[in-house]
Amino acid sequence: TRATKASAKVAPADASAVVITHPDRVVFPDDGITKQDVVDYYRAVMPWLLPPIADRPTSTIRCPGGIGSPCFFQKHVMAGLEHVGTAKLKEETGAQAVYLYPRDEAGLIELVQFGAVEFHPWGSHVGSPDIADRVVFDLDPGEDVDWRRVVAAARMVRGLLDELGLVSFVRTTGGKGLHVVVPLNPGADWDTVKTFARGFAEAMAALHPLEFVATATKRFRRGKIYVDYLRNGRGATAVASYSLRSRPGAPVAVPLRWEELGKVKSGNAFDLRSLPKRLARLKKDPWEGIDEVRQDLASVSEKLGA
Ligand code: ATP
Ligand code: MN
Ligand code: MN
Repeated sequence: TRATKASAKVAPADASAVVITHPDRVVFPDDGITKQDVVDYYRAVMPWLLPPIADRPTSTIRCPGGIGSPCFFQKHVMAGLEHVGTAKLKEETGAQAVYLYPRDEAGLIELVQFGAVEFHPWGSHVGSPDIADRVVFDLDPGEDVDWRRVVAAARMVRGLLDELGLVSFVRTTGGKGLHVVVPLNPGADWDTVKTFARGFAEAMAALHPLEFVATATKRFRRGKIYVDYLRNGRGATAVASYSLRSRPGAPVAVPLRWEELGKVKSGNAFDLRSLPKRLARLKKDPWEGIDEVRQDLASVSEKLGA
């Protein structure tokens, strides 16, 4: 019989398909966290980590010598991967490049075997790379901004989105700030998303000029929160929920319920050791319902005056 596309599809593999070499290699030297600990962490969070990034082109931050040695932000595929999908996609320059995308547990663990510490997906899927289904507002506090203001800022972002009829979700980044994520269904082309994201960031800065800036220029950011809308574009990425960060303490990017944001102490409040305990206690996904949200940008641009 004739081979069909479906039969050519590889069956999902689990992590046991991947051999981990140098499990005792230290990845986080200040914390005594080894490569095996990183593998165990990612295996533990896999049911939460994988679904939202599966089939999205995904960059990794690889730290082959641990985070005490140079790490590399890697967009493109590397030789030797057996469990990771590859897709030829156009770059901004117009040239083609081969991107990787995780499909299953084995693929993510294989990337860890290759030194990946962080995962950074696109806002679109490999099958339709030009259609964005996520907008990410990356709130970057400048110097002299304390955490309470970052929390208040995220709530203000949620408030204006709500006025525009858009539901949003919040996560810590594992770093200094927060991400406010807006799911789109149906999705929109990148031009539409970019224009919206920029218009929204400028509106926040106009409404609350003491709290927000919408320009990337560093010297304007002191004492304010930069609404980094540039996470939204073809090929731009934002850290995945449940990704580790290659920073001391092994912090994790963590989705939150809006109601619990006030109890969280910082952008890096959760780490490799504490996060599995949080997951064990959770009664439901903090971002429950995100896949069922039906909203798009069609009616929004006029309201923003963009
Ligand atoms: P924080 O809360 O500390 O700001 P963050 O993840 O939001 O944490 P940013 O520096 O604001 O960090 O955002 C940088 C984003 O840009 C990353 O999440 C990543 O997806 C992307 N990025 C990081 N390094 C590169 C790079 N070398 N090239 C392209 N994109 C990058
Ligand atoms: Mn940020
Ligand atoms: Mn940023």
